[in-house]
Amino acid sequence: MFNVQDIRKDFPILSRKVNGKPLVYFDNAATSQTPQQVIDTIVDYYSNYNANIHRGVHTLSQEATDLYEQARQNIQAHFNAKFSHEIILTSGTTHSINLVANGFSSLLKKGDDIIVSALEHHSNIVPWQMLCERTGAHLKVIPMNEDGELIMEAYDKLLSKNTKLVFVNHISNALGTINPIETIIEKAHAVGAAVLIDGAQACPHVKPDVQKLDVDFYVASAHKMCGPTGVGMLYGKASWLNKLPPYQGGGEMIAEVTFEKTTYASLPHKFEAGTPNIAGGIAFGAAIKYMNTIGFEAIAAYENELLHYATEKLLQIEGLKIYGTSESKTSVISFNLNNIHPYDVGTILDKLGIAVRTGHHCAQPIMDFYKIPGTVRASFAFYNTKKEIDALVEGVKKAKMMLS
Ligand SMILES: *Cc1c(COP(=O)(O)O)cnc(C)c1O
Repeated sequence: MFNVQDIRKDFPILSRKVNGKPLVYFDNAATSQTPQQVIDTIVDYYSNYNANIHRGVHTLSQEATDLYEQARQNIQAHFNAKFSHEIILTSGTTHSINLVANGFSSLLKKGDDIIVSALEHHSNIVPWQMLCERTGAHLKVIPMNEDGELIMEAYDKLLSKNTKLVFVNHISNALGTINPIETIIEKAHAVGAAVLIDGAQACPHVKPDVQKLDVDFYVASAHKMCGPTGVGMLYGKASWLNKLPPYQGGGEMIAEVTFEKTTYASLPHKFEAGTPNIAGGIAFGAAIKYMNTIGFEAIAAYENELLHYATEKLLQIEGLKIYGTSESKTSVISFNLNNIHPYDVGTILDKLGIAVRTGHHCAQPIMDFYKIPGTVRASFAFYNTKKEIDALVEGVKKAKMMLS
Protein backbone atom coordinates (compact mmCIF):
# COMPACT_ATOMS: atom_id res chain seq x y z
CA MET A 1 0.00 0.00 0.00
CA PHE A 2 1.02 3.62 -0.61
CA ASN A 3 3.01 4.86 2.37
CA VAL A 4 4.65 8.21 1.84
CA GLN A 5 7.04 7.86 4.77
CA ASP A 6 8.41 4.62 3.32
CA ILE A 7 8.64 6.16 -0.13
CA ARG A 8 10.59 9.14 1.21
CA LYS A 9 13.30 6.76 2.47
CA ASP A 10 14.05 5.93 -1.18
CA PHE A 11 15.09 9.55 -1.86
CA PRO A 12 18.32 10.43 -0.04
CA ILE A 13 18.12 14.12 -0.98
CA LEU A 14 14.85 14.55 0.93
CA SER A 15 16.68 14.25 4.24
CA ARG A 16 19.10 17.10 3.59
CA LYS A 17 18.83 20.59 5.02
CA VAL A 18 18.77 23.84 3.11
CA ASN A 19 19.63 27.06 4.95
CA GLY A 20 19.41 25.13 8.20
CA LYS A 21 15.85 23.95 7.51
CA PRO A 22 14.62 20.56 6.28
CA LEU A 23 14.40 20.69 2.49
CA VAL A 24 10.85 21.06 1.15
CA TYR A 25 11.17 20.27 -2.54
CA PHE A 26 8.28 21.74 -4.54
CA ASP A 27 10.02 22.22 -7.89
CA ASN A 28 9.06 18.82 -9.25
CA ALA A 29 7.69 20.23 -12.49
CA ALA A 30 11.21 21.44 -13.34
CA THR A 31 12.91 18.20 -12.36
CA SER A 32 11.98 15.34 -10.06
CA GLN A 33 14.20 13.82 -7.40
CA THR A 34 16.01 10.54 -7.91
CA PRO A 35 15.37 7.42 -5.83
CA GLN A 36 18.23 5.28 -4.56
CA GLN A 37 17.14 2.46 -6.90
CA VAL A 38 17.88 4.67 -9.92
CA ILE A 39 21.12 6.05 -8.43
CA ASP A 40 22.22 2.44 -7.81
CA THR A 41 21.55 1.56 -11.44
CA ILE A 42 23.91 4.31 -12.59
CA VAL A 43 26.62 3.33 -10.10
CA ASP A 44 26.21 -0.33 -11.05
CA TYR A 45 26.57 0.48 -14.74
CA TYR A 46 29.81 2.42 -14.31
CA SER A 47 31.12 -0.09 -11.76
CA ASN A 48 30.39 -3.22 -13.78
CA TYR A 49 29.28 -2.74 -17.38
CA ASN A 50 30.75 0.48 -18.78
CA ALA A 51 31.43 -0.07 -22.50
CA ASN A 52 30.25 1.28 -25.81
CA ILE A 53 27.15 -0.42 -27.13
CA HIS A 54 26.11 -2.03 -30.43
CA ARG A 55 29.77 -2.25 -31.48
CA GLY A 56 32.08 -4.57 -29.63
CA VAL A 57 32.11 -8.34 -29.74
CA HIS A 58 33.52 -8.34 -26.23
CA THR A 59 31.48 -9.33 -23.21
CA LEU A 60 31.22 -5.92 -21.57
CA SER A 61 29.93 -4.33 -24.74
CA GLN A 62 27.36 -7.08 -25.16
CA GLU A 63 26.20 -6.77 -21.57
CA ALA A 64 25.91 -2.98 -21.85
CA THR A 65 24.00 -3.36 -25.11
CA ASP A 66 21.61 -5.86 -23.50
CA LEU A 67 20.93 -3.53 -20.56
CA TYR A 68 20.37 -0.58 -22.88
CA GLU A 69 18.00 -2.51 -25.15
CA GLN A 70 16.22 -3.93 -22.10
CA ALA A 71 15.61 -0.33 -20.98
CA ARG A 72 14.15 0.46 -24.40
CA GLN A 73 11.78 -2.48 -23.95
CA ASN A 74 10.79 -1.26 -20.47
CA ILE A 75 9.96 2.11 -22.01
CA GLN A 76 8.08 0.44 -24.86
CA ALA A 77 6.00 -1.59 -22.42
CA HIS A 78 5.30 1.44 -20.24
CA PHE A 79 3.95 3.51 -23.13
CA ASN A 80 2.41 0.46 -24.78
CA ALA A 81 4.16 1.07 -28.12
CA LYS A 82 3.61 -1.70 -30.63
CA PHE A 83 7.33 -2.15 -31.43
CA SER A 84 10.49 -1.39 -29.44
CA HIS A 85 11.99 0.27 -32.54
CA GLU A 86 9.28 2.92 -32.26
CA ILE A 87 11.07 4.17 -29.12
CA ILE A 88 13.94 6.52 -29.97
CA LEU A 89 16.19 7.39 -27.04
CA THR A 90 17.11 11.07 -27.13
CA SER A 91 18.67 13.59 -24.75
CA GLY A 92 15.21 14.76 -23.68
CA THR A 93 11.93 16.32 -24.73
CA THR A 94 13.57 19.30 -26.42
CA HIS A 95 15.78 17.03 -28.52
CA SER A 96 12.80 14.81 -29.40
CA ILE A 97 10.72 17.77 -30.58
CA ASN A 98 13.57 19.19 -32.64
CA LEU A 99 14.11 15.79 -34.24
CA VAL A 100 10.51 15.69 -35.45
CA ALA A 101 10.41 19.38 -36.44
CA ASN A 102 13.56 18.93 -38.45
CA GLY A 103 12.18 15.81 -40.11
CA PHE A 104 9.09 17.67 -41.26
CA SER A 105 11.18 20.30 -43.08
CA SER A 106 11.13 18.19 -46.20
CA LEU A 107 7.44 17.27 -45.87
CA LEU A 108 5.86 20.74 -45.55
CA LYS A 109 5.32 23.48 -48.08
CA LYS A 110 3.98 27.00 -48.29
CA GLY A 111 0.26 27.10 -47.51
CA ASP A 112 0.45 24.27 -44.97
CA ASP A 113 -0.69 24.98 -41.42
CA ILE A 114 0.83 23.90 -38.11
CA ILE A 115 -1.29 24.25 -35.00
CA VAL A 116 0.16 24.67 -31.50
CA SER A 117 -1.58 25.70 -28.28
CA ALA A 118 -1.39 28.81 -26.13
CA LEU A 119 -0.31 26.60 -23.23
CA GLU A 120 2.97 25.43 -24.73
CA HIS A 121 6.44 25.32 -23.24
CA HIS A 122 8.96 27.31 -25.33
CA SER A 123 10.49 24.04 -26.47
CA ASN A 124 7.16 23.28 -28.15
CA ILE A 125 6.91 26.70 -29.80
CA VAL A 126 10.34 27.72 -31.03
CA PRO A 127 11.17 24.58 -33.10
CA TRP A 128 7.87 24.99 -34.95
CA GLN A 129 8.51 28.67 -35.61
CA MET A 130 11.88 27.67 -37.03
CA LEU A 131 10.17 24.98 -39.12
CA CYS A 132 7.71 27.57 -40.47
CA GLU A 133 10.58 29.87 -41.41
CA ARG A 134 12.25 27.05 -43.32
CA THR A 135 9.14 25.83 -45.11
CA GLY A 136 6.77 28.80 -45.41
CA ALA A 137 4.14 26.93 -43.40
CA HIS A 138 1.88 28.96 -41.13
CA LEU A 139 1.75 28.69 -37.31
CA LYS A 140 -1.71 28.90 -35.74
CA VAL A 141 -2.45 28.95 -32.03
CA ILE A 142 -5.34 27.38 -30.07
CA PRO A 143 -6.28 30.13 -27.58
CA MET A 144 -6.87 29.62 -23.84
CA ASN A 145 -9.45 30.93 -21.36
CA GLU A 146 -9.06 32.51 -17.90
CA ASP A 147 -9.04 29.09 -16.22
CA GLY A 148 -6.05 28.09 -18.32
CA GLU A 149 -7.99 25.70 -20.55
CA LEU A 150 -7.80 25.43 -24.31
CA ILE A 151 -10.83 26.80 -26.15
CA MET A 152 -11.88 23.78 -28.16
CA GLU A 153 -14.42 25.61 -30.37
CA ALA A 154 -11.54 27.79 -31.57
CA TYR A 155 -9.51 24.64 -32.32
CA ASP A 156 -12.35 23.35 -34.50
CA LYS A 157 -12.21 26.57 -36.51
CA LEU A 158 -8.43 26.41 -37.00
CA LEU A 159 -8.52 22.89 -38.45
CA SER A 160 -8.71 22.55 -42.21
CA LYS A 161 -7.41 20.41 -45.04
CA ASN A 162 -4.26 22.59 -44.89
CA THR A 163 -3.50 21.44 -41.34
CA LYS A 164 -0.52 19.10 -41.50
CA LEU A 165 0.62 18.98 -37.88
CA VAL A 166 -0.82 19.62 -34.43
CA PHE A 167 1.41 19.99 -31.36
CA VAL A 168 -0.02 20.22 -27.88
CA ASN A 169 1.26 19.36 -24.46
CA HIS A 170 -0.52 16.66 -22.52
CA ILE A 171 -0.27 18.66 -19.28
CA SER A 172 0.81 22.32 -19.01
CA ASN A 173 3.98 22.75 -16.98
CA ALA A 174 3.08 26.34 -16.02
CA LEU A 175 -0.52 25.79 -14.87
CA GLY A 176 -0.99 22.03 -14.54
CA THR A 177 -3.97 21.91 -16.90
CA ILE A 178 -4.64 18.44 -18.33
CA ASN A 179 -5.51 18.99 -21.99
CA PRO A 180 -8.19 16.92 -23.75
CA ILE A 181 -5.66 15.22 -25.98
CA GLU A 182 -7.97 12.36 -27.04
CA THR A 183 -10.31 14.87 -28.70
CA ILE A 184 -7.43 16.93 -30.08
CA ILE A 185 -5.91 13.84 -31.72
CA GLU A 186 -9.22 12.58 -33.10
CA LYS A 187 -10.09 15.93 -34.69
CA ALA A 188 -6.62 16.39 -36.17
CA HIS A 189 -6.76 12.92 -37.71
CA ALA A 190 -10.16 13.72 -39.19
CA VAL A 191 -8.50 16.37 -41.40
CA GLY A 192 -5.45 14.18 -42.08
CA ALA A 193 -3.00 15.97 -39.77
CA ALA A 194 -0.33 14.27 -37.65
CA VAL A 195 -0.18 14.94 -33.91
CA LEU A 196 2.76 15.29 -31.54
CA ILE A 197 1.98 15.30 -27.83
CA ASP A 198 4.53 16.77 -25.44
CA GLY A 199 4.24 14.48 -22.44
CA ALA A 200 7.13 15.92 -20.41
CA GLN A 201 4.79 17.14 -17.69
CA ALA A 202 2.29 14.31 -17.91
CA CYS A 203 4.58 11.31 -17.51
CA PRO A 204 5.36 11.96 -13.83
CA HIS A 205 1.61 11.66 -13.12
CA VAL A 206 -0.05 9.39 -15.67
CA LYS A 207 0.75 6.37 -17.81
CA PRO A 208 -0.03 7.19 -21.44
CA ASP A 209 -1.06 4.42 -23.84
CA VAL A 210 0.18 5.56 -27.23
CA GLN A 211 -1.76 2.92 -29.16
CA LYS A 212 -5.02 3.70 -27.43
CA LEU A 213 -4.43 7.42 -27.97
CA ASP A 214 -3.56 6.63 -31.60
CA VAL A 215 -1.01 9.47 -31.31
CA ASP A 216 1.63 9.87 -34.03
CA PHE A 217 4.44 11.16 -31.80
CA TYR A 218 4.75 11.33 -28.01
CA VAL A 219 7.79 12.78 -26.23
CA ALA A 220 9.06 12.85 -22.63
CA SER A 221 12.14 13.48 -20.46
CA ALA A 222 13.48 11.00 -17.89
CA HIS A 223 14.46 13.70 -15.39
CA LYS A 224 10.84 14.66 -14.71
CA MET A 225 9.90 11.08 -13.84
CA CYS A 226 12.56 10.04 -11.30
CA GLY A 227 15.24 9.42 -13.93
CA PRO A 228 18.50 11.24 -14.68
CA THR A 229 18.97 14.39 -16.77
CA GLY A 230 20.20 14.20 -20.35
CA VAL A 231 17.95 11.38 -21.52
CA GLY A 232 14.44 11.18 -22.88
CA MET A 233 12.33 9.52 -25.49
CA LEU A 234 10.48 9.97 -28.71
CA TYR A 235 7.71 7.56 -29.55
CA GLY A 236 6.75 7.66 -33.20
CA LYS A 237 4.52 5.38 -35.21
CA ALA A 238 6.89 3.28 -37.33
CA SER A 239 5.16 4.51 -40.49
CA TRP A 240 6.06 8.11 -39.55
CA LEU A 241 9.58 7.37 -38.36
CA ASN A 242 10.31 5.57 -41.60
CA LYS A 243 9.10 8.59 -43.54
CA LEU A 244 11.18 11.18 -41.66
CA PRO A 245 14.80 11.71 -42.74
CA PRO A 246 17.56 11.23 -40.12
CA TYR A 247 18.19 14.17 -37.82
CA GLN A 248 21.92 13.93 -37.21
CA GLY A 249 24.58 12.09 -39.18
CA GLY A 250 27.32 10.07 -37.54
CA GLY A 251 28.23 6.68 -36.17
CA GLU A 252 25.54 4.14 -35.25
CA MET A 253 22.91 5.56 -37.64
CA ILE A 254 24.30 4.16 -40.88
CA ALA A 255 24.01 0.89 -42.75
CA GLU A 256 26.86 1.53 -45.19
CA VAL A 257 29.12 4.51 -45.81
CA THR A 258 31.13 5.31 -48.89
CA PHE A 259 32.13 8.78 -50.10
CA GLU A 260 29.58 8.44 -52.91
CA LYS A 261 26.58 7.43 -50.85
CA THR A 262 25.54 6.49 -47.35
CA THR A 263 22.57 4.33 -46.55
CA TYR A 264 20.89 4.65 -43.19
CA ALA A 265 20.39 2.11 -40.48
CA SER A 266 16.89 0.88 -39.74
CA LEU A 267 14.84 2.09 -36.77
CA PRO A 268 15.59 3.00 -34.06
CA HIS A 269 19.28 3.48 -34.91
CA LYS A 270 18.58 5.81 -37.83
CA PHE A 271 17.79 8.50 -35.24
CA GLU A 272 20.45 7.59 -32.70
CA ALA A 273 23.69 8.96 -34.16
CA GLY A 274 26.78 8.79 -31.97
CA THR A 275 27.35 7.21 -28.59
CA PRO A 276 24.20 7.76 -26.54
CA ASN A 277 23.80 8.42 -22.83
CA ILE A 278 24.08 4.71 -22.06
CA ALA A 279 23.94 4.89 -18.26
CA GLY A 280 21.12 7.44 -18.59
CA GLY A 281 19.07 5.19 -20.87
CA ILE A 282 19.47 2.25 -18.52
CA ALA A 283 18.55 4.45 -15.55
CA PHE A 284 15.50 5.76 -17.45
CA GLY A 285 14.31 2.16 -17.66
CA ALA A 286 14.94 1.76 -13.91
CA ALA A 287 13.00 4.97 -13.16
CA ILE A 288 10.00 3.71 -15.09
CA LYS A 289 10.19 0.43 -13.23
CA TYR A 290 10.37 2.29 -9.90
CA MET A 291 7.33 4.45 -10.66
CA ASN A 292 5.31 1.45 -11.79
CA THR A 293 6.17 -0.35 -8.56
CA ILE A 294 4.51 2.49 -6.68
CA GLY A 295 1.72 2.54 -9.25
CA PHE A 296 0.34 5.42 -11.28
CA GLU A 297 -3.15 5.12 -9.84
CA ALA A 298 -1.84 5.46 -6.31
CA ILE A 299 0.41 8.34 -7.40
CA ALA A 300 -2.45 10.22 -9.06
CA ALA A 301 -4.82 9.72 -6.13
CA TYR A 302 -2.27 10.89 -3.57
CA GLU A 303 -1.08 13.89 -5.61
CA ASN A 304 -4.68 14.93 -6.13
CA GLU A 305 -5.16 14.91 -2.37
CA LEU A 306 -2.06 17.14 -1.99
CA LEU A 307 -3.33 19.47 -4.72
CA HIS A 308 -6.70 19.97 -3.06
CA TYR A 309 -5.22 20.35 0.39
CA ALA A 310 -2.72 22.98 -0.80
CA THR A 311 -5.26 24.84 -2.94
CA GLU A 312 -7.64 25.19 -0.03
CA LYS A 313 -4.95 26.31 2.41
CA LEU A 314 -3.29 28.77 0.03
CA LEU A 315 -6.59 30.38 -0.96
CA GLN A 316 -7.17 31.25 2.69
CA ILE A 317 -4.31 33.77 2.38
CA GLU A 318 -5.80 37.13 1.48
CA GLY A 319 -4.45 38.58 -1.76
CA LEU A 320 -3.23 35.23 -3.09
CA LYS A 321 -4.39 34.43 -6.62
CA ILE A 322 -4.01 31.05 -8.31
CA TYR A 323 -3.48 30.91 -12.09
CA GLY A 324 -4.73 27.74 -13.72
CA THR A 325 -8.07 26.87 -12.19
CA SER A 326 -9.28 24.11 -14.47
CA GLU A 327 -11.15 21.23 -12.85
CA SER A 328 -8.87 19.03 -14.84
CA LYS A 329 -5.36 19.63 -13.50
CA THR A 330 -2.38 17.93 -11.85
CA SER A 331 -0.48 18.88 -8.73
CA VAL A 332 0.88 22.25 -9.88
CA ILE A 333 -0.09 25.53 -8.23
CA SER A 334 0.98 28.75 -9.93
CA PHE A 335 0.22 31.81 -7.81
CA ASN A 336 0.99 35.41 -6.99
CA LEU A 337 0.59 37.50 -3.84
CA ASN A 338 -1.01 40.90 -4.44
CA ASN A 339 1.51 42.91 -6.46
CA ILE A 340 4.57 41.31 -4.94
CA HIS A 341 7.12 40.09 -7.48
CA PRO A 342 7.27 36.26 -7.59
CA TYR A 343 11.05 36.36 -7.37
CA ASP A 344 10.90 38.04 -3.95
CA VAL A 345 8.47 35.41 -2.63
CA GLY A 346 10.70 32.63 -3.99
CA THR A 347 13.77 34.13 -2.30
CA ILE A 348 12.12 34.24 1.12
CA LEU A 349 10.81 30.68 0.70
CA ASP A 350 14.32 29.51 -0.15
CA LYS A 351 15.61 31.00 3.12
CA LEU A 352 13.08 28.69 4.78
CA GLY A 353 14.37 25.66 2.89
CA ILE A 354 11.42 25.60 0.49
CA ALA A 355 12.26 25.14 -3.21
CA VAL A 356 9.70 26.60 -5.63
CA ARG A 357 10.07 27.91 -9.15
CA THR A 358 9.56 31.56 -9.94
CA GLY A 359 9.35 33.23 -13.32
CA HIS A 360 7.64 32.51 -16.62
CA HIS A 361 8.27 28.73 -16.54
CA CYS A 362 9.39 28.74 -20.20
CA ALA A 363 5.83 29.69 -21.13
CA GLN A 364 5.89 33.45 -21.70
CA PRO A 365 2.72 33.50 -23.84
CA ILE A 366 0.73 32.27 -20.81
CA MET A 367 2.17 35.08 -18.64
CA ASP A 368 1.32 37.60 -21.38
CA PHE A 369 -2.24 36.28 -21.41
CA TYR A 370 -2.60 36.99 -17.68
CA LYS A 371 -0.56 40.22 -18.02
CA ILE A 372 1.85 39.19 -15.27
CA PRO A 373 5.67 38.91 -15.27
CA GLY A 374 5.55 35.40 -13.86
CA THR A 375 4.26 33.33 -10.98
CA VAL A 376 5.47 31.36 -8.00
CA ARG A 377 4.98 27.72 -8.88
CA ALA A 378 4.76 24.95 -6.32
CA SER A 379 4.58 21.52 -7.92
CA PHE A 380 4.05 18.41 -5.84
CA ALA A 381 5.22 14.85 -6.32
CA PHE A 382 4.14 11.61 -4.69
CA TYR A 383 6.97 11.89 -2.12
CA ASN A 384 5.73 15.24 -0.77
CA THR A 385 3.60 15.53 2.36
CA LYS A 386 0.82 17.66 3.82
CA LYS A 387 3.24 18.73 6.53
CA GLU A 388 5.47 20.19 3.81
CA ILE A 389 2.47 22.02 2.38
CA ASP A 390 1.82 23.48 5.84
CA ALA A 391 5.41 24.76 5.82
CA LEU A 392 4.80 26.35 2.41
CA VAL A 393 1.63 28.05 3.60
CA GLU A 394 3.43 29.44 6.67
CA GLY A 395 6.31 30.57 4.43
CA VAL A 396 3.99 32.38 2.05
CA LYS A 397 2.29 34.13 4.97
CA LYS A 398 5.68 35.22 6.25
CA ALA A 399 6.72 36.45 2.78
CA LYS A 400 3.51 38.44 2.55
CA MET A 401 4.15 40.08 5.91
CA MET A 402 7.74 40.96 5.04
CA LEU A 403 7.04 42.24 1.55
CA SER A 404 3.80 44.17 1.87
C1 LIG B 1 10.23 20.33 -19.09
C2 LIG B 1 9.36 20.45 -20.25
C3 LIG B 1 9.89 20.50 -21.55
C4 LIG B 1 11.37 20.48 -21.81
O1 LIG B 1 11.98 19.33 -21.35
P1 LIG B 1 13.57 19.19 -21.37
O2 LIG B 1 13.81 18.01 -20.50
O3 LIG B 1 14.12 20.46 -20.79
O4 LIG B 1 13.98 18.99 -22.77
C5 LIG B 1 9.00 20.57 -22.59
N1 LIG B 1 7.68 20.61 -22.39
C6 LIG B 1 7.13 20.57 -21.16
C7 LIG B 1 5.66 20.58 -21.01
C8 LIG B 1 7.94 20.49 -20.05
O5 LIG B 1 7.42 20.45 -18.83
